Amino acid sequence: MVNHTLQDIQPLMIPGLADGAPIIIAGPCSAETEQQTLDTARALSATGVRVFRAGLWKPRTMPGSFEGVGDKGLSWLQAVKRETGMLVATEVATVEHVRAALEAGIDILWIGARTSANPFAMQDIADALRGHDEVTVLVKNPVNPDLDLWIGALQRILGAGITRVAAVHRGFSSAGTHIYRNDPQWHIPFELRRHAPGMTILCDPSHIGGKREFVEPLSQLALDAGFDGLMIECHCDPDKALSDSAQQVAPEEFKAMISRLVVRSGAPIEDELGLLRQQIDDCDHELLAVLARRMSVSREIGLFKKAHNLRVVQPARYQDVMRARLAEGSTLGLSEDFTQLVMQAIHEESVRQQLDILNN
Ligand code: PEP
Ligand code: MN
Repeated sequence: MVNHTLQDIQPLMIPGLADGAPIIIAGPCSAETEQQTLDTARALSATGVRVFRAGLWKPRTMPGSFEGVGDKGLSWLQAVKRETGMLVATEVATVEHVRAALEAGIDILWIGARTSANPFAMQDIADALRGHDEVTVLVKNPVNPDLDLWIGALQRILGAGITRVAAVHRGFSSAGTHIYRNDPQWHIPFELRRHAPGMTILCDPSHIGGKREFVEPLSQLALDAGFDGLMIECHCDPDKALSDSAQQVAPEEFKAMISRLVVRSGAPIEDELGLLRQQIDDCDHELLAVLARRMSVSREIGLFKKAHNLRVVQPARYQDVMRARLAEGSTLGLSEDFTQLVMQAIHEESVRQQLDILNN
């Protein structure tokens, strides 16, 4: 058997997709009922989607959450395929899932972030896939930002002789307050691209953003950043979805969003772009200079607190400042999440600098 490496992976071919068009995979987080699955699939097929997704076995953080309909949803996906001609995709996390999905003729299997983080699970899945080289396997990034773990997961699938392999970037878990549900850490998929230049890399803006309103800007960003396509969660009645309700979009919303997305050529027009980039560079220089000035004032305050034996953090002052900044940010058109994130980071650094002064 030829041993395939990341370097040899070829782009995915999706029948019926125009040359150079991004691959769009769409469908509900979970298949919930046959009706919901088919209603969503029909609406998506009518917008030109060629690949339908729906989770049957759902890895949920909390026990007691909806854990998917399991095997019985396989026939719903078969019905979607029969009726619409779309390829169908579902998540597999165990050997049993792989066997059931292969037997049901599911075209594309994806491996979720919690599974790709586990080499034992990955090897079991790879072994179960051996001999089924007709299937396409998508490997989502592991929950933790570890490029090697992602590469290792891909290599295990390749090692089982599967050549239709692609990656999906869905962001990484992280502690603390963030705008997005999962931190994109874009440099990680960019670095993956260097290791596997021919491989299709998709972006999942739904799981990165975690909120409906982020799906479109993240999708545009992903296309602009050279991702080969998108995996988007779409539900015929998102507010009633049994999983990931906040991030799913309705089919009409999906259709409008897809029509607004701009697919740009890979080659930038250097002059115009260069000028805009110059402006960005200037803004960044200004920002850094202001931050340095702010920290120097913080250190002065640190000296004062030290001289007068005052505590570093005064909660009431912190609350007042945060409230005032959020209001100011909002007047300037900045989102509350963003202002909060920036102000928290600045505050943390200020505290660190003052502690340094108090303790030395
Ligand atoms: C999903 O695609 O519904 C899913 C569970 O994704 P992830 O593994 O990225 O969390
Ligand atoms: Mn989901």
